[in-house]
Amino acid sequence: SIAKTYPYANTNKPKEYYDYEALQVTWGSQDVYEISKKIGRGKYSEVFSGVNALNQQQCVIKVLKPVKKKKIKREIKILQNLTGGPNIIGLLDVVRDPESRVPCLIFESVNNTDFRTLYPRFSDMDVRYYMYELLKAIDYCHSMGIMHRDVKPHNVMIDHEQKQIRLIDWGLADFYHPGEKYNVRVASRCFKGPELLVDFHYYDYSLDLWSFGCMLAGMIFRKEPFFSGADNYDQLIKIAKVIGTDKLHTYLKKYDLKLHPQIQKNLGKYAVKPWDKFVTNDNQKYMSAEVFDLLDNLLQYDHQDRPTAKEAMNHPYFAPIRNQQQ
Ligand code: ATP
Repeated sequence: SIAKTYPYANTNKPKEYYDYEALQVTWGSQDVYEISKKIGRGKYSEVFSGVNALNQQQCVIKVLKPVKKKKIKREIKILQNLTGGPNIIGLLDVVRDPESRVPCLIFESVNNTDFRTLYPRFSDMDVRYYMYELLKAIDYCHSMGIMHRDVKPHNVMIDHEQKQIRLIDWGLADFYHPGEKYNVRVASRCFKGPELLVDFHYYDYSLDLWSFGCMLAGMIFRKEPFFSGADNYDQLIKIAKVIGTDKLHTYLKKYDLKLHPQIQKNLGKYAVKPWDKFVTNDNQKYMSAEVFDLLDNLLQYDHQDRPTAKEAMNHPYFAPIRNQQQ
């Protein structure tokens, strides 16, 4: 199984581009950045807002928790490769605390509103616009040979006043090389593609299109997260209850995969649940034949059958946005 688009994106670049282990980081000094307040915390970091004392520029300071040097180099190399791309968070500097030597990443700051507050305020056109802009970032990273592997609302910063969106958190991202075996312990549970849940290690960029589909479904149905499994096994069952079990068995057969006994035990036989079953008074303004068709395309077990980011951008659902941007 190899990616349908950009399979040789890295092969065609100089080794320094993807050989992140060889990266020699030139650390700046943290002194220039004044921390003001804590704005977030993740598994791998604590995040603060701050200011660059030299030019008064607002910034975000991601203080990394002790993790493997290799992982830090991977995140930095990927950010250096992608900074400046459409709707990709910009890395401004990499610094270390002079005493503790704790590494920090300095980013452009986004005046983000929490998605739980923001998404319910969106109009149908807002959803189409932001999801189209998110696809630009996803297509760009794929074209640069990189899979994000953690697409979810927490990692998409939106400044609604400026209509600005940024894809953040490249800590789980990796370079795609055709035929390479990847770790399936990536992405957040509710956004994990079926490939991860059935232990298929030869996945590719198309993983991000599944996660993107989960985000789109969550937004339009106002059900966040859309597939809400109690654990990784239950996650696949939650998916099967919506997109059915017939195609799951076809998928397993095609790639010669077996379900984990725990899943086998709990998985029943489910029909495809039509999207209109999720329609409520609150979410009906987002409904259209186009969005249902796009979801049918994105949320497919077989990663090879999902549209690429470019193909998704060309879907009729985004026609009003494409026309506006011409
Ligand atoms: P996780 O464990 O959730 O994957 P992490 O340790 O990898 O997190 P990030 O996801 O990069 O860290 O950042 C954590 C949080 O900090 C984000 O969810 C967001 O709320 C905030 N944040 C990070 N970068 C920015 C930014 N550039 N502008 C505004 N807020 C940001």
